[in-house]
Amino acid sequence: MSGFNFDVITLFPKAFELINNLGVITKALDKSLINVNLHDLREYGDGSYRQVDDKPYGGGAGMVLKPEPIYKAHESIRKLPKSKTLLMTPQGKVLKQKDFARWSTLDQIIIICGQYEGFDERIRCLADEEISIGDYVLSGGEIPAISIINGLTRLLPGTLGDPDSLVDESHNSSLLEYPHYTRPLTFKDMQVPDILVSGNHEEIKSWRRKKSFERTLERRSDLISNENCKKFPQSHRFIKEYKQFINFKIGNENEIYPDW
Ligand code: SAH
Repeated sequence: MSGFNFDVITLFPKAFELINNLGVITKALDKSLINVNLHDLREYGDGSYRQVDDKPYGGGAGMVLKPEPIYKAHESIRKLPKSKTLLMTPQGKVLKQKDFARWSTLDQIIIICGQYEGFDERIRCLADEEISIGDYVLSGGEIPAISIINGLTRLLPGTLGDPDSLVDESHNSSLLEYPHYTRPLTFKDMQVPDILVSGNHEEIKSWRRKKSFERTLERRSDLISNENCKKFPQSHRFIKEYKQFINFKIGNENEIYPDW
């Protein structure tokens, strides 16, 4: 099968109807740049009731997904040469933009979605990686799985109309993106910055770089590192200026410009 393959093991395949109405992702499906194969966990359930969950040993609230149905569903999936299995769990490594780039060279991602209280611990052996989409708990792995399908698909060649839109965007260069404006020039007394209508492309580029750096300092100073400072010639000066009036903390200050 051509195109990138997502194979998803889920108790709620209908939740994935969302991707049929998701702009560029839907277009990627239509153009067969991606295939999303849904594996209904219920079909692999035990007995005539197709049981997929059970009470936790040792007592406690909620139901736990049984190991056998998930193993059976996983075994039934034809594995492509470059394939990884991701387990959705709030206990996993928090998803980052660079993960999408890393996975985009694979042929296939198999995603296991948990539900209820979670899954039997022995399911973890199936996973190459355990992924969390943030430090909060959702009721199931379907929205995390759709986030992965969405984020990865937009990096695949042919998906976005203008691939340049990936270059500057937030989290790609480890900095947040600069502010955008479109028409009208004045809206409720708020003006588009003059520089953006000046036609001076070099100045615009430099303004955007500055804004991107400032914005990251203001909102996410934890993303500022030596590496991205080096990419921005004025970064040293900005950081010095900012240090005077915002209270920010950089991961390991000693490593960044030790001459401060
Ligand atoms: N009791 C579990 C949470 C279960 S939530 C615990 O404390 O770890 C039910 C399922 O939703 C999980 O198995 C997982 O598949 C999914 N899920 C919930 N929050 C998530 C998150 N932040 N990232 C990824 N998956 C999540």
